[in-house]
This record gives sequence, C-alpha cells and structure tokens, in this order.
Amino acid sequence: MMQTPLTMTQMLKRAEMFFPKKQVISRTTSGIQRFSYKEFADRTRRLADSLTKLGVEKGEKVGTLAWNHHRHLEAYFAIPCMGAVLHTINIRLTPQHISYIINHAEDKVLLVDPDILPLLEKCGSELNTVKAFIVMTDEPELPETTLSPVYHYENLLKEANRTFSFPDDIDENAPAGMCYTSATTGNPKGVIYTHRGIVLHSLALGLADSGGLSEKDVAMPVVPMFHVNAWGMPFAGVWFGTTLVMPGPYFTPKLLAELIQTEKVTITAGVPTIWLGLLKELEEGSYDTGSLRSILCGGSAAPKGMIKTFEQKYKIPFKHAYGMTETSPLALISTLKSYQEELSPEEKLELRSKQGTLVPGLEMKIVGKDGEVAWDGKEMGELCLRGPWIASEYYKDERTKDAFRNGWLHTGDVVTIDEEGFVKIVDRTKDLIKSGGEWISSVDLENALMAHEAVFEAAVVAIPHERWQERPIACVVLKDAYKGKTRKEELFDFLKPQFAKWWIPDDILFLDEIPKTSVGKFLKRTLRDQVQREVLK
Ligand code: ADP
Repeated sequence: MMQTPLTMTQMLKRAEMFFPKKQVISRTTSGIQRFSYKEFADRTRRLADSLTKLGVEKGEKVGTLAWNHHRHLEAYFAIPCMGAVLHTINIRLTPQHISYIINHAEDKVLLVDPDILPLLEKCGSELNTVKAFIVMTDEPELPETTLSPVYHYENLLKEANRTFSFPDDIDENAPAGMCYTSATTGNPKGVIYTHRGIVLHSLALGLADSGGLSEKDVAMPVVPMFHVNAWGMPFAGVWFGTTLVMPGPYFTPKLLAELIQTEKVTITAGVPTIWLGLLKELEEGSYDTGSLRSILCGGSAAPKGMIKTFEQKYKIPFKHAYGMTETSPLALISTLKSYQEELSPEEKLELRSKQGTLVPGLEMKIVGKDGEVAWDGKEMGELCLRGPWIASEYYKDERTKDAFRNGWLHTGDVVTIDEEGFVKIVDRTKDLIKSGGEWISSVDLENALMAHEAVFEAAVVAIPHERWQERPIACVVLKDAYKGKTRKEELFDFLKPQFAKWWIPDDILFLDEIPKTSVGKFLKRTLRDQVQREVLK
C-alpha cells in the first residue's frame, strides 16, 4: 500500500473541494453569523498568509485564547496546515498558569478574544516569547490594551491572500496541536497532538458505533475548543462536511436550547454539568429538541438519572464516553451491542451509564494489585491505554515517567470491566475513598444520589477517620423546588437499600453549589478541604 501522509491539510482540502456550500454557524458578541465552507476555507488561507507574514515558521507555536466560534475554527486549520502548532489555552486557568503555559510552549503569536484581553494583560510582562497579539473582534476598532504589538484579525485577513498555498511536505508525525491538562497539583502538563493522531482520531469519531459524526449532521460542540480540541468535533466535522454550530462566548442553557431548536442541531457534545443545566431548562421552558439524535457526554461520569430523563422523557439518545487530554480524547464509548438491545430498560440503562467499550484502533489493559483484573465487573485496577491517538509523553516534563511506562499511558483512573468488556470508571486514583482497607467509589454514591428526584447535584468526598482511615461525606445541591423541604434522612433512606452498610456516607451536607474545575468537573480537592473544615471543626 502507499505510504501517503495523514495530514490535516487533506481534511481542509476535502471540505473546500466537496462541501463549499455547507455552513459554519457562529455565535459571536454581535449575534449569529453564517459562513459557507468556501468562505471558511478562504478565510483560513488568509489567516495562514497573515501568520506567515508575521514571521510564524514551521514547528512554531501559535496560541489561542478563545471561545467556540468561526475565527477559532479558522485558526484550528490555518495553523496546523501551514506547519505550525495550534496551542489552545484554557482561559479558565489562573494568570500564573496561563503565563507558565505560554512560556513553556514558547508561543510566538497569540490569537485572543476581546473579552479575554484583560486576563492576558495580567500575564503581559511575564510573557517572554510572544511577538504579536491578534484580537479576534467583531468591532472595527481594536480595544484599548496594554499589550503590544496588537493586530486586528479582520484587518489582517482583508490584506491577506485567499489563495495562500499550504506546504505539501508536512510530516504526518509532526506536531499539529497542543493542549495543557490542568494537573491537580503543580503546573499544567502539555500534550502534543500530531497530524496523524488527529486524522485517525477524527476517523474514529465518524464510526457509526462511536461518535457516528457524518455530513448529514448539524454538530454543536459545546465542550470548549480550549479543552482537548472540543473533543475533536471541529476537526472531524470540517473533514466530513458537517454543518457546524459554534455556540460562542458566555452561553446559557437557554441559549443552547434555542440553538438546538432553531438550527436543528442533531449532535452535540459536552460535560455532564452542561447537560444538567440543559435538562433544567427543558423542564422549565418549552423547546422542540426533536432534531437531536445524539448527546455525547464525557469528562466526568454521567449520572444515570440524567441519562434516563433525556432518553425517556425527551427521547434524546445519550452517549456516554470517556477520554482525557492525553487521549485526544475519545477512548471508550458506551454503545450497546446488538444482542444487548434485548435487555430490560433498567439493564440497558445500567450498561449505558458505564463508560463503555474500547474505540477501534486503541488497545487497553487494566492492571490491579495482582496483574490484569478479571472481567467480572468487580475487581478494580488502573486503566492503561495505547494507540495512535494516545500521547506518548508530556511536553518537556519530567512527570512523563510516572504516567507513561512501558509503552502504556497509565490514566490514573480506577475501573472495573464486566464480562461484555464494558468499562466502568470507579474513581480517579486520588478520589477513591479507602475505608477499613476497602475501596468505596465516590462516583457510585454520587450517581445514586443524583437519581433522587430532589437532587440537582451530588459529590462525595473522603474525610480522615481514626478507625476506618477514611469515611465518605456526601455534599448535595437540591433542586430549587425541594430546597428546605427535603431532609437528609430521606436521602439516607433512599441510599440504604442500594449499598452495603459501610458504603453509606457518614453525613449528607446541603450546599448551594459544588465547586467546579475550569472545565466544569467537581473540584474534589477544594470540596474535600471545605468539608473537612466543616465536619471536623
Ligand atoms: P483534567 O480534568 O485533569 O483537566 P481531562 O479533561 O483530560 O483533564 O480529564 C480526564 C479525566 O476525566 C479522566 O482521567 C477521568 O478521570 C475523567 N473522565 C473523563 N470522562 C469520564 C467519564 N465519562 N466518566 C468518568 N470520568 C471521566
């Protein structure tokens, strides 16, 4: 067979060639804008020309600090296709971490949204590699800023060449993108995505039993483009000629519901918190969500109760998936096998709330205390992965040696696997609760609590215990209608028949909200400190 390189340039060219009439629908500060793929490709070529004129060379990093919109999508293709490296920066990190990331990656140019400028200004004097800032604004004038030199995105594009030709000698193993994952302690860790990795991951996203993304879809990536490439949906979407809906800055559940209704979105992707918010909105308002054929949910465990409500009440198929920054991210997806369709609704829901089976193209093993664990749904071990879209190291970081050993990525996630090969994430190694020498899964308890009608969100953390070493404490946010009316005894009674006695939390605390990470996951470390202060005072 031919050894043709798998590069992102072929993805862009295919969209340009076959789908010039398809659309990118982009919400920005001035409203909804629509671009044909022809316009998108022209603007992408112009951006590459502008960056070349600013001196960006092959292999150099160009950072983005931006929401999900058409300009960010243009950067997603212009930068890798010109041979440079698209470095998406998580705008929810602290200025200290953002400065660290930019300096560590040695970004040469930064593309930034106007509302994120103040955050970047806080890093200003710390940034020692950046030669130019480009503001992605709808306004004709540049906003006031202390950063320099600053360019206007649209003005640069106006002066640029729309027939800019991309180099055709890009190595498929060359870096195309990079993203830093927020480490719980210490500085963020960088992961490089190669052209080959992105192409193969995109193919996986299109497989019917995985994401099933296709030309016919209207796809709305809600997961931020600054977090693991919006799970690769923009890359695959452009390649397949999918209509893309970019929800833009500061969206609300109401706005998402409206976009689904008016743009007839068929597939969307995001973390459970987003879908909990959308569910609340659907319960309060009246929307037509009939176009939706799939909600992809990952990033943290999808509560069973939520999957059930989406599917049974709103008839929206829900796909639970698992991945991480290091895995591009798609690694596991919970798609039922044909013969499992015969199971009872409860059994099917149980399976669908697991993280699922391995996506074709990857390999896995689950390593427990005594080697690989049994496929019995009980024995726990650490999930290890390898494959063409799994990172092989952290970028210039000595923490590589902990996570990448013997050719495997050690995910730090503790899992079980059942007879059918369905993997269930039990916890992150550091969030497991160790009580009397046994492990308690915080995720299982959270899932059970979130299935109670009064509960909006629940997180379970450990507190130190003299006799048992650790004990679980549950933190619960009640739905508005149940606030002040639901007592903890009711929740205890609900949990007791479902778990062994020693799994039942020592206490249930009612909170107004649960602290979240920059990407909407429970911030267990902060919550643990908060709970320990409260309970042990
Ligand atoms: P971080 O949260 O560290 O910034 P990532 O976004 O890469 O970085 O998170 C990856 C982690 O998220 C996984 O290691 C796993 O613990 C968790 N995760 C991802 N998907 C799921 C899921 N479907 N269910 C449970 N946990 C998940």
